[in-house]
Amino acid sequence: MDTIRVTVWGEYRHEKRNPAVAAVYPDGMHNTIAGALRKQSGFSVRTATLDEPEHGLTDDVLNTTDVLTWWGHVAHNEVRDEIVAKVRQRVWEGMGLIVLHSGHFSKIFKSLMGTSCDLKWREAGENERIWVVEPGHPIAEGLGETIELEHEEMYGERFDIPQPETLVFVSWFKGGEVFRSGCCYTRGKGRIFYFRPGHETFPTYHHPDVQRVIANAVRWAAQPPAPKVVFGNVKPREELAVVQES
Ligand code: ZN
Repeated sequence: MDTIRVTVWGEYRHEKRNPAVAAVYPDGMHNTIAGALRKQSGFSVRTATLDEPEHGLTDDVLNTTDVLTWWGHVAHNEVRDEIVAKVRQRVWEGMGLIVLHSGHFSKIFKSLMGTSCDLKWREAGENERIWVVEPGHPIAEGLGETIELEHEEMYGERFDIPQPETLVFVSWFKGGEVFRSGCCYTRGKGRIFYFRPGHETFPTYHHPDVQRVIANAVRWAAQPPAPKVVFGNVKPREELAVVQES
């Protein structure tokens, strides 16, 4: 692929309502994530947010998106079901999907996983050590053995997801819990990556290694357009003997 067309979707509510979040992400988390991706070569990046018409995910946008990233939290239920169905259809056709942090409870992630996607959590600003457990994987390219985040929200197992096809990261938290924090899936022709860190009150998306993971994941999830498949009722390729009805 020449240029990977990325759409960074953000719920963009916390930033407008909570000054503590706005202080960390004055232009919104989606613009911080998009800005980091724009520094990479080979990406064409745009953003979309919940309160835009069709949540910014019109047919035209979805049909020209190779990889969609998704951050949502307080307004999962406001995402319209028909838009979720269109996103899911595009994933089945081959669009990549990167689900970030609290996106674990988004309609699109739950519908693609088919499980509750529930987990344990604690907001104590403890440190998170993300271990690279699949160092040869393209999503781990350029990382050291660990990513160290000084302050993060804790997510703990059990994380109620299907067994990942590849597990790239495992997180450890100061309070003692562990979590499968980098999970790869395929649904239809589409590649999906779930990446755990990114609580809105912490500067996680400014962290160079976190930005690197998201860029690596976008490259991994981007695929050339899949050939159109014909479904439904078909005529026989060869002449069939006529079965007499009695
Ligand atoms: Zn959070």
